[in-house]
Amino acid sequence: MTTALVFLTETAENLGKAQRELMSLGARFEQTLVAVPGDASESLRAELGRYGVATVYTAAVDPEIFAQPLVELLDAAIAAGQPELVLTGNDPLSREAAARVAVRREAGIVTDATDVSADLLISKDELAGSYGAQVKVASQPALVALKPNSVDDAPAEAASTPEVVSLPLAEVDAPQVRVLGAEPKPVSTRPALNEARVVVAGGRGVNGDFSPVEDLADALGAAVGASRAATDAGWISHDAQVGQTGVTVSPQLYISAGISGAIQQKAGMQTSKVIVAVNKDADAPVFEIADLGIVGDLAKVLPQAAEEIRRRQA
Ligand SMILES: Cc1cc2nc3c(=O)[nH]c(=O)nc-3n(C[C@H](O)[C@H](O)[C@H](O)COP(=O)(O)OP(=O)(O)OC[C@H]3O[C@@H](n4cnc5c(N)ncnc54)[C@H](O)[C@@H]3O)c2cc1C
Repeated sequence: MTTALVFLTETAENLGKAQRELMSLGARFEQTLVAVPGDASESLRAELGRYGVATVYTAAVDPEIFAQPLVELLDAAIAAGQPELVLTGNDPLSREAAARVAVRREAGIVTDATDVSADLLISKDELAGSYGAQVKVASQPALVALKPNSVDDAPAEAASTPEVVSLPLAEVDAPQVRVLGAEPKPVSTRPALNEARVVVAGGRGVNGDFSPVEDLADALGAAVGASRAATDAGWISHDAQVGQTGVTVSPQLYISAGISGAIQQKAGMQTSKVIVAVNKDADAPVFEIADLGIVGDLAKVLPQAAEEIRRRQA
Protein backbone atom coordinates (compact mmCIF):
# COMPACT_ATOMS: atom_id res chain seq x y z
CA MET A 1 0.00 0.00 0.00
CA THR A 2 1.42 3.38 -1.01
CA THR A 3 0.72 6.42 1.14
CA ALA A 4 0.99 9.88 -0.42
CA LEU A 5 1.24 13.00 1.74
CA VAL A 6 0.21 16.21 -0.01
CA PHE A 7 1.85 19.30 1.48
CA LEU A 8 -0.16 22.51 1.15
CA THR A 9 1.74 25.64 2.19
CA GLU A 10 -1.28 27.92 2.34
CA THR A 11 -4.34 27.83 4.53
CA ALA A 12 -7.32 28.82 2.45
CA GLU A 13 -11.05 28.16 2.54
CA ASN A 14 -10.84 26.54 -0.89
CA LEU A 15 -8.17 24.83 -2.91
CA GLY A 16 -6.51 26.69 -5.78
CA LYS A 17 -5.96 25.13 -9.20
CA ALA A 18 -2.39 23.92 -8.53
CA GLN A 19 -3.52 22.50 -5.17
CA ARG A 20 -6.39 20.59 -6.80
CA GLU A 21 -3.88 19.08 -9.23
CA LEU A 22 -1.69 18.00 -6.31
CA MET A 23 -4.73 16.48 -4.58
CA SER A 24 -5.77 14.67 -7.78
CA LEU A 25 -2.35 13.07 -8.09
CA GLY A 26 -2.31 12.21 -4.37
CA ALA A 27 -5.76 10.61 -4.67
CA ARG A 28 -4.41 8.02 -7.12
CA PHE A 29 -2.53 6.28 -4.29
CA GLU A 30 -4.06 3.86 -1.79
CA GLN A 31 -3.91 6.30 1.11
CA THR A 32 -3.85 10.10 0.88
CA LEU A 33 -2.76 12.37 3.71
CA VAL A 34 -2.51 16.16 3.80
CA ALA A 35 -0.34 18.57 5.81
CA VAL A 36 -1.57 22.16 5.97
CA PRO A 37 -0.63 25.09 8.25
CA GLY A 38 -3.23 26.64 10.51
CA ASP A 39 -6.76 25.38 11.03
CA ALA A 40 -8.30 23.21 8.34
CA SER A 41 -11.67 24.93 7.96
CA GLU A 42 -14.87 22.97 7.46
CA SER A 43 -15.08 23.91 3.78
CA LEU A 44 -11.43 22.94 3.22
CA ARG A 45 -12.00 19.59 4.96
CA ALA A 46 -15.05 18.96 2.79
CA GLU A 47 -13.03 19.73 -0.32
CA LEU A 48 -10.19 17.46 0.79
CA GLY A 49 -12.80 14.77 1.40
CA ARG A 50 -13.62 14.84 -2.32
CA TYR A 51 -10.08 13.56 -2.90
CA GLY A 52 -10.53 10.72 -0.41
CA VAL A 53 -8.13 12.17 2.17
CA ALA A 54 -7.81 9.98 5.27
CA THR A 55 -5.99 12.39 7.60
CA VAL A 56 -5.26 16.12 7.62
CA TYR A 57 -2.25 17.13 9.72
CA THR A 58 -2.43 20.70 10.94
CA ALA A 59 -0.25 22.81 13.20
CA ALA A 60 -0.48 26.31 14.58
CA VAL A 61 2.00 27.80 12.15
CA ASP A 62 1.77 31.52 11.45
CA PRO A 63 1.14 32.34 7.82
CA GLU A 64 4.71 33.01 6.81
CA ILE A 65 6.60 34.13 3.80
CA PHE A 66 9.65 32.15 4.89
CA ALA A 67 9.94 28.40 4.92
CA GLN A 68 11.26 27.68 8.42
CA PRO A 69 7.93 26.98 10.21
CA LEU A 70 6.67 25.02 7.21
CA VAL A 71 9.77 22.80 7.39
CA GLU A 72 8.78 21.84 10.96
CA LEU A 73 5.19 21.12 9.90
CA LEU A 74 6.17 18.96 6.92
CA ASP A 75 8.80 17.09 8.91
CA ALA A 76 6.34 16.36 11.74
CA ALA A 77 3.65 15.23 9.27
CA ILE A 78 6.11 12.83 7.61
CA ALA A 79 7.03 11.43 11.04
CA ALA A 80 3.34 10.93 11.87
CA GLY A 81 2.09 9.60 8.51
CA GLN A 82 5.17 7.68 7.27
CA PRO A 83 4.36 8.31 3.59
CA GLU A 84 6.33 6.74 0.75
CA LEU A 85 5.61 9.81 -1.39
CA VAL A 86 5.40 13.53 -0.50
CA LEU A 87 3.80 15.81 -3.10
CA THR A 88 4.40 19.57 -2.97
CA GLY A 89 3.82 22.54 -5.23
CA ASN A 90 6.63 23.62 -7.56
CA ASP A 91 6.56 27.23 -6.29
CA PRO A 92 9.67 28.62 -4.53
CA LEU A 93 8.24 28.41 -0.98
CA SER A 94 7.06 24.78 -1.31
CA ARG A 95 10.31 23.74 -2.95
CA GLU A 96 12.42 25.44 -0.29
CA ALA A 97 10.51 23.78 2.55
CA ALA A 98 10.61 20.37 0.83
CA ALA A 99 14.32 20.68 0.01
CA ARG A 100 15.17 21.51 3.62
CA VAL A 101 13.16 18.51 4.86
CA ALA A 102 14.91 16.35 2.25
CA VAL A 103 18.31 17.43 3.60
CA ARG A 104 17.20 16.79 7.18
CA ARG A 105 15.91 13.31 6.34
CA GLU A 106 18.59 12.45 3.75
CA ALA A 107 15.72 11.86 1.32
CA GLY A 108 15.67 12.45 -2.43
CA ILE A 109 13.74 15.33 -3.96
CA VAL A 110 12.60 15.79 -7.57
CA THR A 111 11.39 19.20 -8.81
CA ASP A 112 9.64 20.15 -12.06
CA ALA A 113 7.77 16.82 -11.97
CA THR A 114 4.85 16.27 -14.32
CA ASP A 115 3.55 12.88 -13.12
CA VAL A 116 4.13 10.03 -10.66
CA SER A 117 3.16 6.45 -11.56
CA ALA A 118 1.70 3.87 -9.19
CA ASP A 119 5.17 2.37 -8.69
CA LEU A 120 6.62 5.82 -7.93
CA LEU A 121 8.33 6.38 -11.29
CA ILE A 122 8.52 10.17 -11.58
CA SER A 123 8.23 11.99 -14.93
CA LYS A 124 9.93 15.35 -15.04
CA ASP A 125 11.05 18.11 -17.35
CA GLU A 126 14.78 18.60 -17.84
CA LEU A 127 16.76 21.54 -19.21
CA ALA A 128 13.77 23.90 -19.03
CA GLY A 129 11.47 21.45 -20.78
CA SER A 130 13.76 20.56 -23.70
CA TYR A 131 13.82 16.91 -22.52
CA GLY A 132 11.55 14.65 -20.51
CA ALA A 133 13.08 12.22 -18.01
CA GLN A 134 11.80 9.41 -15.83
CA VAL A 135 13.49 9.04 -12.46
CA LYS A 136 13.16 7.01 -9.29
CA VAL A 137 14.07 8.19 -5.82
CA ALA A 138 16.11 5.59 -3.96
CA SER A 139 15.35 6.91 -0.46
CA GLN A 140 12.10 7.16 1.49
CA PRO A 141 10.07 9.23 1.33
CA ALA A 142 10.38 10.49 -2.23
CA LEU A 143 9.70 14.25 -2.21
CA VAL A 144 8.21 15.45 -5.50
CA ALA A 145 7.38 19.03 -6.54
CA LEU A 146 4.66 18.96 -9.22
CA LYS A 147 4.55 21.55 -12.02
CA PRO A 148 1.17 23.25 -12.45
CA ASN A 149 -0.91 22.26 -15.51
CA SER A 150 0.48 18.71 -15.42
CA VAL A 151 -2.42 16.69 -14.00
CA ASP A 152 -6.17 16.83 -14.69
CA ASP A 153 -8.39 17.65 -11.75
CA ALA A 154 -10.02 14.32 -10.83
CA PRO A 155 -11.53 13.70 -7.39
CA ALA A 156 -11.28 10.24 -5.82
CA GLU A 157 -13.87 7.59 -6.69
CA ALA A 158 -15.00 7.46 -3.07
CA ALA A 159 -15.19 10.64 -0.98
CA SER A 160 -14.09 10.59 2.67
CA THR A 161 -14.48 12.48 5.92
CA PRO A 162 -10.88 13.32 6.81
CA GLU A 163 -9.72 12.95 10.39
CA VAL A 164 -7.93 16.11 11.60
CA VAL A 165 -4.77 15.61 13.66
CA SER A 166 -3.16 18.63 15.25
CA LEU A 167 0.62 18.21 15.45
CA PRO A 168 2.49 19.64 18.45
CA LEU A 169 5.47 21.31 16.79
CA ALA A 170 8.81 21.89 18.42
CA GLU A 171 9.35 25.61 18.98
CA VAL A 172 11.09 27.19 16.06
CA ASP A 173 13.83 28.80 18.07
CA ALA A 174 16.00 31.67 16.91
CA PRO A 175 14.26 32.39 13.62
CA GLN A 176 16.88 33.07 10.99
CA VAL A 177 14.76 35.71 9.30
CA ARG A 178 12.68 38.44 10.92
CA VAL A 179 9.97 40.23 8.94
CA LEU A 180 10.31 43.97 9.50
CA GLY A 181 7.40 45.04 7.34
CA ALA A 182 5.14 43.79 4.60
CA GLU A 183 3.10 45.48 1.93
CA PRO A 184 0.32 43.61 0.13
CA LYS A 185 0.57 43.52 -3.64
CA PRO A 186 -2.22 45.13 -5.62
CA VAL A 187 -4.72 42.35 -6.33
CA SER A 188 -4.98 41.35 -9.97
CA THR A 189 -8.09 39.72 -11.36
CA ARG A 190 -5.96 37.90 -13.93
CA PRO A 191 -4.90 34.30 -13.25
CA ALA A 192 -1.48 33.60 -11.75
CA LEU A 193 1.17 33.50 -14.46
CA ASN A 194 2.58 30.06 -13.58
CA GLU A 195 -0.88 28.44 -13.41
CA ALA A 196 -2.71 30.18 -16.26
CA ARG A 197 -4.14 28.09 -19.09
CA VAL A 198 -3.49 30.98 -21.48
CA VAL A 199 -0.59 33.48 -21.38
CA VAL A 200 -0.19 36.54 -23.58
CA ALA A 201 3.39 37.86 -23.43
CA GLY A 202 4.93 41.01 -24.81
CA GLY A 203 8.54 41.95 -25.54
CA ARG A 204 10.60 44.88 -26.74
CA GLY A 205 8.30 45.06 -29.75
CA VAL A 206 5.51 46.58 -27.62
CA ASN A 207 7.74 49.66 -27.48
CA GLY A 208 6.63 50.70 -24.00
CA ASP A 209 2.89 50.16 -24.46
CA PHE A 210 1.58 46.92 -22.94
CA SER A 211 -2.08 47.83 -23.45
CA PRO A 212 -2.62 45.67 -26.61
CA VAL A 213 -1.09 42.70 -24.75
CA GLU A 214 -3.20 43.34 -21.63
CA ASP A 215 -6.36 43.85 -23.62
CA LEU A 216 -5.94 40.57 -25.52
CA ALA A 217 -5.13 38.81 -22.22
CA ASP A 218 -8.35 40.15 -20.68
CA ALA A 219 -10.38 39.07 -23.72
CA LEU A 220 -9.02 35.54 -23.23
CA GLY A 221 -9.02 35.47 -19.42
CA ALA A 222 -5.26 35.06 -19.67
CA ALA A 223 -2.22 36.02 -17.60
CA VAL A 224 0.24 38.63 -18.89
CA GLY A 225 3.88 37.64 -19.41
CA ALA A 226 6.90 39.49 -20.73
CA SER A 227 10.42 39.11 -22.01
CA ARG A 228 13.34 40.34 -19.97
CA ALA A 229 13.87 43.22 -22.38
CA ALA A 230 10.39 44.47 -21.48
CA THR A 231 10.76 44.02 -17.71
CA ASP A 232 14.27 45.53 -17.71
CA ALA A 233 12.87 48.55 -19.54
CA GLY A 234 10.41 49.00 -16.65
CA TRP A 235 7.35 48.63 -18.91
CA ILE A 236 5.93 45.88 -16.69
CA SER A 237 6.74 44.31 -13.31
CA HIS A 238 9.61 41.81 -13.05
CA ASP A 239 7.07 39.23 -11.78
CA ALA A 240 5.83 38.97 -15.37
CA GLN A 241 9.18 37.86 -16.80
CA VAL A 242 9.03 34.49 -18.51
CA GLY A 243 12.23 32.59 -19.13
CA GLN A 244 15.41 31.15 -17.73
CA THR A 245 15.69 33.81 -15.04
CA GLY A 246 11.95 34.40 -14.75
CA VAL A 247 8.84 32.25 -14.43
CA THR A 248 8.55 28.93 -16.26
CA VAL A 249 5.10 28.51 -17.80
CA SER A 250 3.43 25.60 -19.53
CA PRO A 251 -0.02 26.83 -20.54
CA GLN A 252 -2.38 25.38 -23.13
CA LEU A 253 -1.81 28.51 -25.22
CA TYR A 254 1.12 30.98 -25.20
CA ILE A 255 0.81 34.06 -27.38
CA SER A 256 4.18 35.73 -27.88
CA ALA A 257 4.04 39.30 -29.23
CA GLY A 258 7.07 41.37 -30.18
CA ILE A 259 9.47 38.85 -28.64
CA SER A 260 12.40 37.63 -30.76
CA GLY A 261 12.58 34.19 -29.08
CA ALA A 262 16.05 34.18 -27.50
CA ILE A 263 17.12 30.88 -25.94
CA GLN A 264 16.62 32.29 -22.42
CA GLN A 265 13.00 33.26 -23.26
CA LYS A 266 12.31 29.86 -24.89
CA ALA A 267 13.57 28.11 -21.76
CA GLY A 268 10.55 29.42 -19.87
CA MET A 269 7.77 28.75 -22.38
CA GLN A 270 8.69 26.09 -24.92
CA THR A 271 6.65 23.37 -23.18
CA SER A 272 3.45 25.35 -23.84
CA LYS A 273 0.94 23.16 -25.69
CA VAL A 274 0.27 25.68 -28.49
CA ILE A 275 2.53 28.64 -29.26
CA VAL A 276 1.30 31.55 -31.36
CA ALA A 277 3.91 34.17 -32.31
CA VAL A 278 3.30 37.68 -33.60
CA ASN A 279 6.44 39.37 -34.88
CA LYS A 280 7.10 41.81 -37.70
CA ASP A 281 10.35 40.04 -38.61
CA ALA A 282 9.66 36.81 -40.54
CA ASP A 283 13.12 35.52 -39.58
CA ALA A 284 12.64 35.94 -35.81
CA PRO A 285 13.78 32.74 -33.98
CA VAL A 286 10.45 32.51 -32.16
CA PHE A 287 8.88 31.23 -35.39
CA GLU A 288 11.08 28.09 -35.12
CA ILE A 289 9.00 26.88 -32.17
CA ALA A 290 5.67 28.53 -33.01
CA ASP A 291 2.69 26.37 -34.00
CA LEU A 292 1.13 29.40 -35.63
CA GLY A 293 3.08 32.45 -36.77
CA ILE A 294 1.74 35.84 -37.75
CA VAL A 295 4.19 38.20 -39.47
CA GLY A 296 2.87 41.64 -38.66
CA ASP A 297 2.75 44.63 -36.36
CA LEU A 298 1.44 43.60 -32.94
CA ALA A 299 -0.21 47.00 -32.52
CA LYS A 300 -2.52 46.00 -35.39
CA VAL A 301 -2.75 42.21 -34.95
CA LEU A 302 -3.50 42.05 -31.23
CA PRO A 303 -6.44 44.50 -31.18
CA GLN A 304 -7.98 42.68 -34.17
CA ALA A 305 -7.65 39.35 -32.36
CA ALA A 306 -9.15 40.80 -29.15
CA GLU A 307 -12.06 42.32 -31.09
CA GLU A 308 -12.81 39.08 -32.92
CA ILE A 309 -12.63 37.05 -29.68
CA ARG A 310 -15.05 39.44 -27.94
CA ARG A 311 -17.38 39.37 -30.96
CA ARG A 312 -17.51 35.55 -30.82
CA GLN A 313 -18.03 35.58 -27.05
CA ALA A 314 -20.97 38.00 -27.33
C1 LIG B 1 21.80 35.04 -18.24
C2 LIG B 1 20.64 35.58 -19.05
C3 LIG B 1 19.38 35.29 -18.61
C4 LIG B 1 18.26 35.77 -19.35
N1 LIG B 1 17.01 35.45 -18.93
C5 LIG B 1 15.96 35.82 -19.68
C6 LIG B 1 14.62 35.47 -19.34
O1 LIG B 1 14.37 34.83 -18.29
N2 LIG B 1 13.62 35.84 -20.16
C7 LIG B 1 13.83 36.55 -21.32
O2 LIG B 1 12.85 36.87 -22.03
N3 LIG B 1 15.07 36.93 -21.65
C8 LIG B 1 16.13 36.60 -20.87
N4 LIG B 1 17.38 37.01 -21.23
C9 LIG B 1 17.52 37.99 -22.32
C10 LIG B 1 17.45 37.36 -23.70
O3 LIG B 1 18.72 36.94 -24.11
C11 LIG B 1 16.94 38.41 -24.72
O4 LIG B 1 17.79 39.53 -24.69
C12 LIG B 1 15.51 38.88 -24.46
O5 LIG B 1 14.66 37.76 -24.34
C13 LIG B 1 15.06 39.74 -25.63
O6 LIG B 1 13.78 40.23 -25.39
P1 LIG B 1 12.83 40.57 -26.63
O7 LIG B 1 12.62 39.36 -27.45
O8 LIG B 1 11.61 41.24 -26.07
O9 LIG B 1 13.65 41.70 -27.37
P2 LIG B 1 14.37 41.64 -28.80
O10 LIG B 1 15.30 40.50 -28.88
O11 LIG B 1 14.90 43.02 -29.03
O12 LIG B 1 13.19 41.34 -29.81
C14 LIG B 1 12.12 42.21 -30.06
C15 LIG B 1 11.31 41.58 -31.18
O13 LIG B 1 10.16 42.36 -31.39
C16 LIG B 1 9.91 42.40 -32.77
N5 LIG B 1 9.12 43.61 -33.01
C17 LIG B 1 9.50 44.90 -32.90
N6 LIG B 1 8.47 45.73 -33.11
C18 LIG B 1 7.39 44.94 -33.37
C19 LIG B 1 6.03 45.21 -33.65
N7 LIG B 1 5.55 46.45 -33.69
N8 LIG B 1 5.21 44.16 -33.87
C20 LIG B 1 5.66 42.87 -33.82
N9 LIG B 1 6.95 42.57 -33.54
C21 LIG B 1 7.81 43.58 -33.30
C22 LIG B 1 11.26 42.42 -33.42
O14 LIG B 1 11.21 41.94 -34.75
C23 LIG B 1 12.05 41.48 -32.51
O15 LIG B 1 12.01 40.15 -32.96
C24 LIG B 1 18.49 36.55 -20.51
C25 LIG B 1 19.79 36.82 -20.91
C26 LIG B 1 20.85 36.34 -20.21
C27 LIG B 1 22.25 36.64 -20.69
